Amino acid sequence: MPPRKLAAGNWKMNGTLASLAEVETLMHDCAGAGVDILICPPATLLRLMAERVSAGAVAVGGQDCHAKESGAHTGDISAEQLRDAGASYVIVGHSERRADHGETDAAVAAKAVAAHRAGISSVICVGETEAQRDANETLDVIARQLAGSVPDCATAANTVIAYEPVWAIGTGRTPTNDQIAEVHAAMREALVARFADGAKFRLLYGGSVKPANAAEIFAIAHVDGALVGGASLKAADFTPIVRALD
Ligand code: PEP
Repeated sequence: MPPRKLAAGNWKMNGTLASLAEVETLMHDCAGAGVDILICPPATLLRLMAERVSAGAVAVGGQDCHAKESGAHTGDISAEQLRDAGASYVIVGHSERRADHGETDAAVAAKAVAAHRAGISSVICVGETEAQRDANETLDVIARQLAGSVPDCATAANTVIAYEPVWAIGTGRTPTNDQIAEVHAAMREALVARFADGAKFRLLYGGSVKPANAAEIFAIAHVDGALVGGASLKAADFTPIVRALD
């Protein structure tokens, strides 16, 4: 059986209390959709969002976590705290965190381990820069990031992989369908080679997914959903993306 599809939204550093209405609209407009829906709001909204969504309709997740369970780490949030606030997923290794906070593959893997320790699923992001694509290094970069960022304790049940070309995030540019297909096939092959249930991991594409291009991207082999930034902020944009997966 193919993995159940996942439409995941990353609100990044956007959203205030008033934005919670978007999730209520999303829940209403996507009622009955046969796919999993996840919204990762800023930490300030996590608990409130978790309380507003009805059980099972929309999952909420964090955008990052610390590798440790607790301690002297000012400004950080542990996976256990995310879970306590109602999260069932956490994004780790987003390219903005890799770039802005110098996160290495090893650091990302440690965060994924922390998520699994806390009983929440990790959404592990990988993706090449434009310079790496231009230098024909894409498949090597993805292989290296997968090997280094996905921990040995990963399973299809606790881990989702998101392929997000850095140059496609927030730019309105997307790879060609062939380029997405090539990377997703390579990721599938690497996961199958390493994990007993590698065929079942959900592989998301992320980078300028919009209502207008979602159906075309979702038709590509081994694309099991999307990680969506800008177009996840408004229910009116995210709903057609969810419906395109359904
Ligand atoms: C993201 O930040 O994960 C992302 C894919 O952003 P956008 O959809 O805005 O390109």
